[in-house]
Amino acid sequence: MKLIDTHTHLYLDNFDADRNQIIKNAISHGVETMLLPAIDSTSFDAMMELSNLHPQNCFPMIGLHPTSVKDNYENEMELVEKELSKGSYIAVGEIGIDLYWDKSHFDQQKDAFKRQLRLALKYKLPVAIHTRDSFDEIYPIVKEESTDELTGVFHCFGGTESEAQKIIDLGFMMGIGGIITFKNSGLAEVVQKIPNIHLILETDAPFLTPAPYRGKRNQSAYLTYIASKLAEVKKIDVEEIAEITTKNAIVLFKLV
Ligand SMILES: [Zn+2]
Repeated sequence: MKLIDTHTHLYLDNFDADRNQIIKNAISHGVETMLLPAIDSTSFDAMMELSNLHPQNCFPMIGLHPTSVKDNYENEMELVEKELSKGSYIAVGEIGIDLYWDKSHFDQQKDAFKRQLRLALKYKLPVAIHTRDSFDEIYPIVKEESTDELTGVFHCFGGTESEAQKIIDLGFMMGIGGIITFKNSGLAEVVQKIPNIHLILETDAPFLTPAPYRGKRNQSAYLTYIASKLAEVKKIDVEEIAEITTKNAIVLFKLV
């Protein structure tokens, strides 16, 4: 069984003590491909170092995370633009709007998001979108910028049925992570109705750890728990879920 972790931050310092073991664990659990969403310039070198150490397994994205959009965001955008012009990234991400942690840079977040959607179109790359308390702000922007060419994923999807339908109408994917294993999240009921063709898997490690390890540090090997839960929700074999979501991820991120 092969799985793709489409969103994992294994380059963060949470893994400094045992990063190699974490990569080995993932591969031994069938998670041979790990996609690394960027955050900002402070963790950029670590992300590239990990990608260079494991060029067959770890693939970087480039983008400015909405919680890192501060007064200096023009400098951060310069790094994103410069790196994109080098052409060695699988996606523009993670980008988006986050109104949970800080609303004071909302205008700058919107500007950075819109510009990075356009960069994705320019470089023909998919986008990995972070939404937190912000679906109603993000959706009209994506819709407005949307063309037949714009593709991507709403990472760590935890929304409602009507939000899922809007994402489907955009032709985007939903990244399913640990939230689906949380009791009372209500996500299983929503995901049950989403066509499989719109689903990919992710851990968002070290965050959002699935049951039975909820509360502990997350890692890419735990993607197996998410796949099992999704299989249970969809009432199909986990091997089939692996096959479908892996294929979806390969197509979206052009991993062949
Ligand atoms: Zn993330």
